[in-house]
Amino acid sequence: MACSTATWRAPPWDFEAAQALSRSPGSTGAFLGAKTGTSMTLTPAEVLALLELPLFDLLDRARQVHVAHQPPGEIELCTLVNVKTGGCSEDCGYCSQSVRHPVARREPMLELRDVLAAAEEARQNGSARLCLGAAWPGPRGDRSFEQVLDMIGAVKRLGLETCVTLGRLSLEQAKTLKAAGLDVYNHNLDTSRDFYPHVVSTHSFEDRLETLRHVRAAGLRVCSGGIIGMGESLADRASLLAELAALDPPPESVPINALVPIPGTPLGDRPKIDALEVVRMVAAARIVLPRSRVRLSAGRKDLGREAQLLCLYAGANSIFWGDRLLTTDNAAPDTDRALLRAAGLRARAPEP
Ligand code: SF4
Repeated sequence: MACSTATWRAPPWDFEAAQALSRSPGSTGAFLGAKTGTSMTLTPAEVLALLELPLFDLLDRARQVHVAHQPPGEIELCTLVNVKTGGCSEDCGYCSQSVRHPVARREPMLELRDVLAAAEEARQNGSARLCLGAAWPGPRGDRSFEQVLDMIGAVKRLGLETCVTLGRLSLEQAKTLKAAGLDVYNHNLDTSRDFYPHVVSTHSFEDRLETLRHVRAAGLRVCSGGIIGMGESLADRASLLAELAALDPPPESVPINALVPIPGTPLGDRPKIDALEVVRMVAAARIVLPRSRVRLSAGRKDLGREAQLLCLYAGANSIFWGDRLLTTDNAAPDTDRALLRAAGLRARAPEP
């Protein structure tokens, strides 16, 4: 599905008002950093109008918001480590870790010393955050959850920000993670509420929102975004962004993923998405989530250097660092060093 750019129509919402909405009370309107923003109530039609803008108009608007609300010249580097691979009972159509898909492979839980070695390497390479992923529908009440708690504490003591993605969480589990030293919990909304049942049948969009509520109630920061290129419409993408912007407060981190079709998964036959569609999604995310860090995530390697630079210009200010993500390849560190040099960006330090 291609973005429609043939007919320009003015967005039905007030850009200045939206920017004002994103400022905290008493703000001078100067740079406000990437702390928690203010939620925006936007209709999917309003976000769709943004996604349909002529490309350069959309980029101009996104850049204005980016410059007003984000630290200049800075990028966040995050390193992702899969601590438990495969064997997941859920059926997410994009994922090769589900036992329901023939590609699923299973590996035992990583040892703490392996995680610490990865964390130390990440720290030395300039990563601010280590993200630990486990292919679970949610943590079970067994030793494996305690192992993750130990990992969080140990990584935190190295001076890195900690993030985990473990599936659905109860409020109690979220509080336990917080007590272990966790900073951020990742739980993507993935796609629109309407399209969600086309991608996953073993849990619902509402389940996702419930976990995000538990994460917030426990005092954790939220990382939540989505995936494009799964066969959804442009209206679905708009609806996803409207849902994220309406979270109160919005996620501090918003990963934008492009589907990497993995043979053997239900979405393994999808064509790779056009790079400019990713650019558009990043730009629209920047406008509706002015104070969130927008992370250019899975699929980045396939975009090519110039499209990645456009994404960074349009408001992406976070990337995964390291040549492997949970189930797909990522850009090599040397390639990324050259990319960040070309863009004149420097890695941000971990937040205390
Ligand atoms: S995305 Fe997560 S919950 Fe879904 S199948 Fe993969 S590991 Fe399981």
